[in-house]
Amino acid sequence: MSTLRVKMAVKYLVVGAGLFGSVAARQLAERGHSVLMVDRRGHLGGNCYSEKVQGIDVHRYGPHIFHTNNLRVWKFVNQFVEFNNYRHRGVVQSGDRLFSFPINLQTLHDLWGVRTPAEAQQKLAAQRVVCPDPQNLEEWALSQVGPELYETFIRGYTMKQWGRDPRELSAAVLRRIPIRLTWDDSYFDDTYQGIPVGGYTRMFENMLDHPRIELELGVDFLEHRQELESQAPRILYSGMIDQFFDFRFGALEYRSLRFETETLAGDYQGAAIVNSADAQVPYTRIVEHKHFARTKSDSTVITREYPLAYRPGGEAFYPISTERNEKLLERYKTLAAHQAPHVMFGGRLGAYRYFDMHQVIAQALSCVDRELGLTRRAA
Ligand code: FAD
Repeated sequence: MSTLRVKMAVKYLVVGAGLFGSVAARQLAERGHSVLMVDRRGHLGGNCYSEKVQGIDVHRYGPHIFHTNNLRVWKFVNQFVEFNNYRHRGVVQSGDRLFSFPINLQTLHDLWGVRTPAEAQQKLAAQRVVCPDPQNLEEWALSQVGPELYETFIRGYTMKQWGRDPRELSAAVLRRIPIRLTWDDSYFDDTYQGIPVGGYTRMFENMLDHPRIELELGVDFLEHRQELESQAPRILYSGMIDQFFDFRFGALEYRSLRFETETLAGDYQGAAIVNSADAQVPYTRIVEHKHFARTKSDSTVITREYPLAYRPGGEAFYPISTERNEKLLERYKTLAAHQAPHVMFGGRLGAYRYFDMHQVIAQALSCVDRELGLTRRAA
């Protein structure tokens, strides 16, 4: 049972000190509103939280690479921290081979020996399975890259990551991954990319360092619901939307993760992330944190990431995009509009959407704009 210390009447209560809550709280505070913020965890930053281990910034809840094309979002975060110039290049292990990923000419050269975009195009065209209206992730992937690339890179990884057959998943899960027929091996196309110098936690500490923001850690909104709701007429909520309504229509499904971290000597893999595409390897990737900041150190911290089923009381990391969950979400959204018009749901769990950081920031900025009746320019 968590303890609530602060008793103050404010207009805004923000639930969750992750990106959605922190960005919204800062925007509200800067426009003259006092904000009470609670998070059930003992630290701020949500899933972006980082901590120092032997001088290395360790991303406690999985590796976080910032990338955006949205100048407003980029300017917003740069007020609080400087970003280094890290540009991610993916490496994936399939069987006993290592490939460049997402699929680009280097990947296809290593796999098929092709040397030019035209050769790659020809080979891909011969591989692709004709499917005018792909209905699921597998059909979409086969229509884009054919069976060999699908089996080598996508099928096993997807099954591990989501704990489901790719035929049960929406193609939207994969549409995030670009396929390039050039030698450009960047993971992201975005103009602005990097990792906060000094870690994500520093960015959050600076963002929430405002006299009108009161943050209480270790407080679960649901355990103090009545008291908290009576203190603030307006609520920004970044917890699970189904849990907010006590799972009235049933539970939305989530995927969880387990992290196994160890400190070693030297350099383990020479890259920040090496993914594993094989279904029989239980983890999806190994993260070697010091490569995000090019930290000079004789030691290294690595984390193996194991996807697992979400159980109540655990951490819900990813919403699962299926038809059943989309329908259920629509019912919760309708309920929210009728029964909780004073609550603004946002972030990955509040909106039940697979958002990257820049999308959550953009969502929080727009949410506050709408709430305060600000035009984009004035914001
Ligand atoms: P969260 O960070 O989950 O914050 C929500 C907060 O609400 C949590 O701190 C939680 O404790 C709190 N909370 C929930 N319920 C309650 C309650 N009842 N009472 C009190 N507090 C509550 N994005 C990228 O752009 N690049 C990446 O490389 C990237 N990598 C990722 C890797 C992993 C493994 C994961 C899981 C996500 C990754 N993301 C990445 C996405 C990124 O983590 C999210 O976009 C972002 O953290 C979402 O912020 P949020 O505020 O919505 O949610």
